[in-house]
Amino acid sequence: LGSSLRGTMDKLRGKSRLDEDDVQEIVKEIQRSLLQADVEVDLVMDLSSNIEERALNEEPPGGTSARDHILKIVYEEMVEVVGDSTEIPLEPQTIMLAGLQGSGKTTTAAKIAWWFSKKGLRPAVIQTDTFRPGSYQQAKQMAGNAEVQFYGDPDAEDPVKIARDGLEATEDADVHIVDTAGRHALETELIDEIEEIEREVNPDRNLLVLDAAIGQGAKEQAREFDDAIGIDGVTITKLDGTAKGGGALTAVNETDSSIAFLGTGETVQDIERFEPDGFISRLLGMGDLKQLSERVERAMAETGEEDDDWEPEDMLQGNFTLKDMQRQMDAMNKMGPLDQVMDMIPGMGGGMMDQLPDDAMDVTQDRMRNFEVIMDSMTDEELENPRSIGAKQVQRIARGSGTDEETVQELLQQHKMMDQTLNQFQGMGDGDMQRMMRK
Ligand code: GDP
Ligand code: MG
Repeated sequence: LGSSLRGTMDKLRGKSRLDEDDVQEIVKEIQRSLLQADVEVDLVMDLSSNIEERALNEEPPGGTSARDHILKIVYEEMVEVVGDSTEIPLEPQTIMLAGLQGSGKTTTAAKIAWWFSKKGLRPAVIQTDTFRPGSYQQAKQMAGNAEVQFYGDPDAEDPVKIARDGLEATEDADVHIVDTAGRHALETELIDEIEEIEREVNPDRNLLVLDAAIGQGAKEQAREFDDAIGIDGVTITKLDGTAKGGGALTAVNETDSSIAFLGTGETVQDIERFEPDGFISRLLGMGDLKQLSERVERAMAETGEEDDDWEPEDMLQGNFTLKDMQRQMDAMNKMGPLDQVMDMIPGMGGGMMDQLPDDAMDVTQDRMRNFEVIMDSMTDEELENPRSIGAKQVQRIARGSGTDEETVQELLQQHKMMDQTLNQFQGMGDGDMQRMMRK
């Protein structure tokens, strides 16, 4: 997928002008990526015709390559549709969540509460779902995980009354998150209920919660909820799965709102404020460096290591040392499998990892522990310059680390393989999107 857009872009290397065929090929790849990401057909067509028109009619500014120019156009047009993230002031407020059953409202309620509590506010979750059995328990438990106040009433039947009582009972909280019931499909009962709750609660913000996998259904849902209560922002959940969440664009477009939060997992910490850059990269399958470096930063913070100099992208700049490999292994401990991490580096996503030999990235926990011990016995010079390590040094390192020469050789082999792999990917358009975005 994304790799074909990247591939097409790369064919433009060295060109100073785009001809009609180039533009059409790129537009086609963009359409393919966006449709696959569940962006609505009409929206895709609008977007791509804008891109096409600009690419054909606008002169690249002096010194700009044809490729950079079209990337800039694509990015600008995408930003136009995606928009900035919904403004969420850090002040007392009431937020109500709406959406179909299973979209992730209850989980999101606890996540948003957790998010506010990390910002120093005192949130409370109010659970008004009387429709789905077990909702009370689930919400209570999640609010417990988030360590925030909670109100619900497992025996009550009137959601409006629960909302009223809940606001009163949690008076000393400053942010109120009101969770509501959904239904399997849009129906009058659901809409009536949410209208009544909204009249009672009078929220500052209504957020529509959408599963990233929602496709063309996003439009009708967004329309109905917007008509009923007015939608101020969208939260996309389950972005940790394979779905890219393009349906949210439809919802944003339909309600004239914006995206507020992204849900990226089942625990209360798995929430991020929406940021257009990363989301656009993801939709286009061009990698998401921002997200990756944030994760690396968080992982480093957790291990108490500050390493401001290291950017994952540096690995693609040619010199992959044993120190990089060491950091990579540290980071992996915190971040999960290397192939997933690699997926987020521009130029390495889009299933390219599938083309690697199986053992190219195979660094199991045991091997990693051995490797760490070995690297501790190496000099700085050896770590920076592993190719210079000769037989004598291997002997010394093996002895010093209490391992054997074979394992030291294995480490060097592993490094070589990773280095070669990274070299292979160099110059495949890595970082283009990020460079455009930084401008
Ligand atoms: P509700 O019916 O709208 O309240 O949805 P729930 O909050 O009960 O979520 C439905 C299911 O989706 C639950 O199993 C959640 O754990 C799961 N879920 C919600 N958000 C996410 C997410 O961001 N990632 C993943 N993987 N699962 C999620
Ligand atoms: Mg629920």
